[in-house]
Amino acid sequence: MLGMLLLTSASLAQGPATDDSERIRQIVKEVLREYAATLGDRQADPAAKEMLRNLARDNRAFMTRQGAAHFKPFADGQRPRATVVTCSDSRVHTHALDATPDNDLFVIRNIGNQIATAEGSVEYGVSHLHTPLLLIIGHSACGAIQAAAGDYSAEPGPVRNELDSLQVPKGEGGMASVKLNVNHQVRHALGKYEEKVLTGKLTIVGAVYDFRNDLRQGPGKLVVTNVNGETDPVRIAAMDLMQGLETPEPKSGKRKR
Ligand SMILES: [Zn+2]
Repeated sequence: MLGMLLLTSASLAQGPATDDSERIRQIVKEVLREYAATLGDRQADPAAKEMLRNLARDNRAFMTRQGAAHFKPFADGQRPRATVVTCSDSRVHTHALDATPDNDLFVIRNIGNQIATAEGSVEYGVSHLHTPLLLIIGHSACGAIQAAAGDYSAEPGPVRNELDSLQVPKGEGGMASVKLNVNHQVRHALGKYEEKVLTGKLTIVGAVYDFRNDLRQGPGKLVVTNVNGETDPVRIAAMDLMQGLETPEPKSGKRKR
C-alpha cells in the first residue's frame, strides 16, 4: 500500500501537470501525511534515535553546567553585539569565534552565507537589534560555492534558487570564489546599509573561517578579508579596529559587556 502510494506520488510529480494530476497528487500527499502520523517512530532510522539521545544528554549537561543564573540576564530580551551571516555547513560553528555566544551573536545561516535569501533576518539584526557589527563568514571547502561553480541544473528548485544568487566563476569552486562571494555579500550589505556605515553605526566585516588552513594562517583561523568594502590585506591590517586582534586573551574567556 505504502509502496503504491509513493510510486503514484513520484510518477505524478514527473508527469505533465494537469488539474487532475495535481488534485490526485494532493490527495496522495494527504494520505501519506496521515499514514506517517500513525507510524509514530517505528520507521525511524536508528541513527536518528541515537542522535536525539545524544542531543538530550548534551542538553542536560548544558543545563547543569550553566545553572539558572546563566539565563536570567537575557530571559526577557536579547542584546547581541553582532549580526552574523554564515554558511549552514556543519563544520562551521560559533564556538570557533565566540566563547560566550549566548545573547551576543544574532546568527543567520544558509548555504553559501548569503544575504539575498535572508534579507528579513539580516534586517532584523541590523535595524531592529541595532548590532554595531555585521559579520559575513565564508569558509574553506564550501560545498555551496563548489556547487555554484559547477552545473547545478539537476538540483531541486529551492536549492537552485539559493545557488543562483551566488555569483562565482564556473569551474572555480575554491578559496578564491569563497572570498569573492564574501565580497559580493559585503557589497550587497553596503548597498542596503550605506547610511549606517557612513555614520559609524554599523561596520560590515567579511571573513573566512579556514578550518582547512587553505590560507596558511593556521587551521580554524577566522581571517578578515573585507572591512566595509576594503579588501586590500595591508590596508585592512592597518585599520584601527584590527589592532590588537592577534594578542592572546586571558584564559578566563569571559568578556565584559
Ligand atoms: Zn558552505
